[in-house]
Amino acid sequence: MSTSSSQVIEETISVTTSDTAQLVSNEEATSSNFTQLNKFSELQESMEDDLHGSHGIRRRQPVQKIEPGSLNILSAKYESLDYDTCENHLLLDEERKRGYPFVVWKDIARWVIVLLIGVITALIAFIIDICIEEFSKIKYEQLKKSVDKYVLLDKLYIPYLLWVLTNICIVFIGSMLVAYIEPVAAGSGIPQVKCYLNGVKVPRVVRIKTLFVKAVGVITAVVGGLAGGKEGPMIHSGAVVAAGISQGKSTTFNKDFKILQYFREDHEKRDFVSGGAAAGVSAAFGAPIGGVLFSLEEGTSFWNQALTWRTFFGTVVSTFTLNFALSAYHGHPGELSYPGLLNLGKMEPFPFQFYELPVFMFFGFVGGCLGALWNHINYKLSVFRIRYVSAAWLRVVEACLVAAVSATCGFLMMFLLDDCRPLGEDPTKVPLQLFCADGEYNTLAAIWFQTPEASVRSFLHDPMGSYKPLSLMFFVICYFLLSTWTFGLAVSSGLFIPNLLTGAAWGRLLAIFIQYMLPQNSINPAKYALVGAAAQLGGVVRMTISLTVIIIETTGQISNALPIIITLVVAKWTGDFFNEGIYDIHIQLAGVPLLPWEPPPLAHNIYASEVMSHPVFTLRTVENVGHIVEILRVVSYNGFPVVDPPLADDAEVTTYKRLRGLILRSQLIVLLQNKIYNENANTTWSNFNVDMNMFRREYPRYPSIDELEISDWEKTYTIDLRPFMNPSPYTLPHRASLPRLFRLFRALGLRHLPIVNDHNEVVGMVTRKDIARYRVWRHRGHMGMEELLLSSE
Ligand code: ATP
Repeated sequence: MSTSSSQVIEETISVTTSDTAQLVSNEEATSSNFTQLNKFSELQESMEDDLHGSHGIRRRQPVQKIEPGSLNILSAKYESLDYDTCENHLLLDEERKRGYPFVVWKDIARWVIVLLIGVITALIAFIIDICIEEFSKIKYEQLKKSVDKYVLLDKLYIPYLLWVLTNICIVFIGSMLVAYIEPVAAGSGIPQVKCYLNGVKVPRVVRIKTLFVKAVGVITAVVGGLAGGKEGPMIHSGAVVAAGISQGKSTTFNKDFKILQYFREDHEKRDFVSGGAAAGVSAAFGAPIGGVLFSLEEGTSFWNQALTWRTFFGTVVSTFTLNFALSAYHGHPGELSYPGLLNLGKMEPFPFQFYELPVFMFFGFVGGCLGALWNHINYKLSVFRIRYVSAAWLRVVEACLVAAVSATCGFLMMFLLDDCRPLGEDPTKVPLQLFCADGEYNTLAAIWFQTPEASVRSFLHDPMGSYKPLSLMFFVICYFLLSTWTFGLAVSSGLFIPNLLTGAAWGRLLAIFIQYMLPQNSINPAKYALVGAAAQLGGVVRMTISLTVIIIETTGQISNALPIIITLVVAKWTGDFFNEGIYDIHIQLAGVPLLPWEPPPLAHNIYASEVMSHPVFTLRTVENVGHIVEILRVVSYNGFPVVDPPLADDAEVTTYKRLRGLILRSQLIVLLQNKIYNENANTTWSNFNVDMNMFRREYPRYPSIDELEISDWEKTYTIDLRPFMNPSPYTLPHRASLPRLFRLFRALGLRHLPIVNDHNEVVGMVTRKDIARYRVWRHRGHMGMEELLLSSE
C-alpha cells in the first residue's frame, strides 16, 4: 500500500476509536441502526410535509404501481451507469505505480479492441447475411416448385398451406428463443442500445446469450417471411461484441480471462459499445460514416475527437471485412470493394430540377404523416401486448399468427391481382408464372418470393411500368400494416428494411401518378422510390443526419443528398407534429429515464431544492459495518454521500453534515464481501492487499447485500471509507436551476449529484430519475412540461 493511503488510514484511526467504543454489543449496535433509520423516515415525512406545505413546491410523486402501457411513467427498476471516474486513493496509487507506459499501453489496447470489434461484427453480419440468403433461396425455390406443380392441378391451397407452415415453423424457433431464453433480444435492439449509450443500465442487453438469440432470431424472422429487417439486430450485435471483447470476461459462460481489467468500468465500456453499434450499422448498410453518425445521433452523449476517430476506424474495418468475406463467398476473393455490400444496389445519380424541390417536400410530408400513423398503430398494439399478451406462450402464438398472416397476404395478392411481366427484363431469382401467359411471370410473386431487402432493390431499380398501380397500392397497405404489427413481436427484427420497402412502393406509385400527369416528361421511378423510402423511414424513426448519410452511402451517390435531406427534414417535422419517433415511444413505454439532448425549456425557475430528495441517507467517513449493512438492506439507493461524523450523538439526523465524498453501493458491497474492515482502532488497513482489481473482478454484476455473510460480531467492526470513496464528487448548491442540473448530468454522465448548502453540507440528493421526470410534451403545435410519475415496476 502506498504511503499516502497508509497516512489516511492512520488519520482515521482516532475517529474509529471513538466510534468503535460506542458499540458495546451487537444487539445494541443493531438497535441503534434501526433507531437511526426510523428517525430518518420520520424526519423525511415531516420535512416533506413542511417543504410542500409551506413553500407550495410541487409535491414529489411517490413510487407508485401504475397501469402498464402509460407513456408518462418512469420505472424505478432501471439503474444508471456511472460515467464519472471515481478518483479515489486506489486509483491514484495505481496511476503512480504504473506511470506513463501504462497510458500508452491502454491506448494501444483500445485500438486493437476496436479492430477486433470491427472484424467480429462484420463476420457475424456475414454469417447472418449468408444464412438469410441461402435459407430464403431454398424456401422460395421449394415453394415455387410446389406452385408450378399444383397450379396445373388447380390445387393452389397446397402450396399456400406449405408456405404458411414453413413460415410458422421457422418463426416458431426464433420466437421460442426470444420468449423463453432471452426476451431482451426481441425487436431491433436499437432502443436498448440507445438507452445504454445515454447512461441507463438495461439488464442483460450486452450479454453473449443475447447476441446468440439475436443472431438466430433475426435469421428466423427474415427467412420466416416476417416484415422485418436484419439491420437493427446487427447494430445490437455490434454493441454486444464490443461489450464482450473489451471486458475480457463473459458472464454467460462465467469465465474471466483476467485480461483488460482496466477497461472494466462504465465509462470505458460505453465508448466501446458506441463503437460496436457504429460497426454494426456499417456492417448492415455498408455505411462507415453513417455508422459513426448513427452512434453520435442516437445516443452517445459524451464524444471526443479520439473516440470519433477510433469509431470511424472500427466502422471502416467492419465494412471492408464484410466486403472481403462476401467477395470470397461469391467467388471474387480479395476484392475489397465487392459491390454486393451495397444492399440497396448502386444507383445512378439522378438529375433533379429546382421546381422538383416542392415535390420532395411533399414526399417528406406524406412520409411524416404515414410514419406518424405507423407509430400510432404500433404504440396501440404495444400497449395491447403489454396488457394482454404478456405470457411467453402467448407471445410465441402471436408471432406464429403474424407469420401465417404474412404468407396469406402474399398469397392473396399473387392470386387475386393479375400483374404479369415478360421474363428477362430484370433479375428475379424465382420467377413464378402462376396464371400469367408463357414467357411472363407474376410480378407480385417475384416481390413476395424473396427477402424484403431484395424487394427494396426491385422497387428501386425495376424500370417504369414494371408494376401496376393497383398492385403497388395493395402492397403498400398490406406491408404497412404487417410491418407495424411485426415490430414489437417476440422475434428479433428491425424496422428499417420494411419501412424502406413500404416507402419505395408508395414512392413508385406516386412516380406513376406524376408520369400520368406529365406524360411528355420521362419520369425516373428510381428517384421517387428512393425519396419515398427515405421519407417513410424518416417519418417512423425521425433520424436525420445519420439516415441521410446511410442512404447516400448505401446507394453510392452523394449527388442525391439534397433531395434526401429535404425529404427527411420535412418528414421529421411533420411526424413530430403528431407524435414521437418509434424508438422514443418504446423507450417511454418501458419507462426508461432517458435524458434528452436539451433540458426542458422555461425551467430556470425550478431549483435544485425542488428537484432533490431529502433527507439524504449518508454514511460517515468511518462507519460501523452493522449500520452499512442495515442501510443497504433497508433502502435500494446506489449512492451515498460520505460526511463528517456528527459532533454530538443527537445531532446525528437532525443537522446537516459536511460532505467528504461519495460512495457507491457496489463499492460498499465489495468492501463487505472482502471484509475490508477493522476489528478495532489499532488494526491498520495495510494488513489488507487491496487494489482497484478487487472492484474490477466483480464488475459489472455485484452480489446483493442478502448474499453476503456477515456475522453479528463483524457488524460491530468499522470501515474507513475514505480510501475508497470518490473524494471530489460533483455537487451543486441548492439554488442551482434545473437546466444547470440537467446539463451537468447530460454532459458528464453523472449518476448521483449531492446538493449542498453554503457550508458544503449535504442537504439533498439528485439522480437521473429526478431530472428525467421533467419532460417536454409537444402535440399538434402545443407545448408544455409534464412531471412524470415514478413506477415501482
Ligand atoms: P440509480 O438507480 O440511478 O443507479 P439510485 O438507485 O441511487 O441510482 P434512484 O433509483 O435514481 O437512485 O433514486 C430514486 C430516488 O431516491 C430519487 O428520487 C433519488 O433522489 C433518491 N435517492 C437516491 N439516493 C439517495 C440517498 N442516498 N438518500 C436519499 N435519497 C436518495
